[in-house]
Amino acid sequence: MPIANEKEYRDKVLKCPFCLAFIEKVGEVPNPFGQDLDGGECAQCGARFIYERSWRRQGEAYGDAIAYAYDWDYDSVYENVDARYEEAVVRYNNTSGKYLLGEGDFKERSPKYFFIRRMDIEQEEEEV
Ligand SMILES: [Zn+2]
Repeated sequence: MPIANEKEYRDKVLKCPFCLAFIEKVGEVPNPFGQDLDGGECAQCGARFIYERSWRRQGEAYGDAIAYAYDWDYDSVYENVDARYEEAVVRYNNTSGKYLLGEGDFKERSPKYFFIRRMDIEQEEEEV
């Protein structure tokens, strides 16, 4: 997977874990199924992410990130066998003020960014 390695990722600015472009801002992502979420998009490669501060909601945030990458079309994620994406987790360590790749160990409660980059986005829909 073309995910940046941990060493080159460590930084105090948020970068896309796939292409290392700087993520300029985290904005509000309208969620048609519930509360609006914090997240955004990589301007360079189109990866989308959801930010979740509370560790209790991180499982949901991961699902939301996938749904967001697919424009909230859950069917196309779960029923389309061609739905391919890569995922990466970036956590923000409050203590060190650094962004780190990966989820850390189970005690890790840093806020996390769930990045999803579609790998099927430039393909034409194929007739079945
Ligand atoms: Zn990117």
